[in-house]
Amino acid sequence: MTSEWMKEFVRKASGKIKDAVGDVVFDADLRKLSTMRIGGKASCVAYPSGSSIQEVEEKILRLMEICCDNLIECYPIGNGSNTVFGDVHGVIICTRKMNRFWIEGETIRAQGGAPLPAMSAAAKDAGLSGLEFAIGIPGTIGGAVARNASNYLQSTSDVVVSAKGLRGIQRRVYALLWKNPGHKRFVKRDTMFPASEEDPDFARRMPIGAVIGDDGVRHIGFGYRQSTLTDDQYMDAYVPDKRVMARDLLYSVELGLEAKPGEEIARRMKQNRSHRARTQPRGSSVGSVFKRRANYSTDKSGSRGVGHYNAEELIDRSGCETGPEGWREGDVYMAEQNPNFFINAGNGTLRDFLALRDRVRGRVRDEFGIELQMEADVMYT
Ligand SMILES: Cc1cc2nc3c(=O)[nH]c(=O)nc-3n(C[C@H](O)[C@H](O)[C@H](O)COP(=O)(O)OP(=O)(O)OC[C@H]3O[C@@H](n4cnc5c(N)ncnc54)[C@H](O)[C@@H]3O)c2cc1C
Repeated sequence: MTSEWMKEFVRKASGKIKDAVGDVVFDADLRKLSTMRIGGKASCVAYPSGSSIQEVEEKILRLMEICCDNLIECYPIGNGSNTVFGDVHGVIICTRKMNRFWIEGETIRAQGGAPLPAMSAAAKDAGLSGLEFAIGIPGTIGGAVARNASNYLQSTSDVVVSAKGLRGIQRRVYALLWKNPGHKRFVKRDTMFPASEEDPDFARRMPIGAVIGDDGVRHIGFGYRQSTLTDDQYMDAYVPDKRVMARDLLYSVELGLEAKPGEEIARRMKQNRSHRARTQPRGSSVGSVFKRRANYSTDKSGSRGVGHYNAEELIDRSGCETGPEGWREGDVYMAEQNPNFFINAGNGTLRDFLALRDRVRGRVRDEFGIELQMEADVMYT
């Protein structure tokens, strides 16, 4: 599919897209959608919102149906705090405005775009532990589930109970209900999916398509900064024709937290904040570019030593020069405080970002025989 065709498809469907979601920008500047402020243009960015989970579900379903009917690719995005953009031909569904969440006992139910810092602060106020790690992460809960956001104390996979999503493939939209079998609620009760927590209406509400799986329920698999939710390879396993029109979009997430004394929660948050201040530089970035830990180890002797290192150490030890006066591609350079954070000095482009990424990767490969794995997402079509 050429970009010209895609543009034309979006143009033809623009009236319907606007009717479905209301809040839509055509020919949108994507720099505003990434915390690194790098991006080209998108044919269309849609911002669904609503006062309830069902309201956003209906809007996104309608939008995805239109995209599927008109052969338009669509891509979910949260706060863009892990994503660098080029040009995107198709529809970006940005969840930023579906940002509501509700606390009920030890459960938080959230729309997919709920901001992590606000959820973390509200959980603390309610005396609930589990989200202390999220206080300084500038993303949404949907992005956190997709990428299993974490810090050294806790991770998203510890608290996710279930998530609901939609997937457009070929000409159909599928409803998805994901459960995290690793959550202690399921483990404790010795039963994977307690009936009381099911949504009996879920499949019926989906007017077209079918629910994937016998009972419509999938298990979420989590890894270090990754999950099976948006992993195309995993989707290929049960989509016979591998043409994927859109990735899964999570519009609703349920979290299971634990009541704990306020001082304990506050202490963890403080610990988290000071760790962050020590390790994370300021400036426009998408956080870690490479996965910090990915079993990077080698017994091949590099000229600077042998061992088990994290991504920052590998970059440092391989002799890459950090800071604005060091290795720099256009307006993108590596922060001195942490070379795994690439900083946009103002007018950085995707080309600059990729050039620096490749240069750093090449140096680490030459020195250690190790391939750094990407953590940041790069989105362009
Ligand atoms: C200063 C800074 C500090 C950071 N610190 C940390 C940290 O300590 N720990 C950490 O893990 N990360 C950290 N990050 C990275 C980032 O904030 C997290 O990965 C965050 O969870 C991404 O959320 P987002 O909504 O911004 O995702 P986006 O960047 O918008 O999207 C990331 C990926 O998730 C997908 N996605 C987003 N929303 C949805 C949805 N609703 N449904 C399906 N897929 C979706 C997108 O398609 C994309 O593939 C940091 C980033 C910055 C800029």
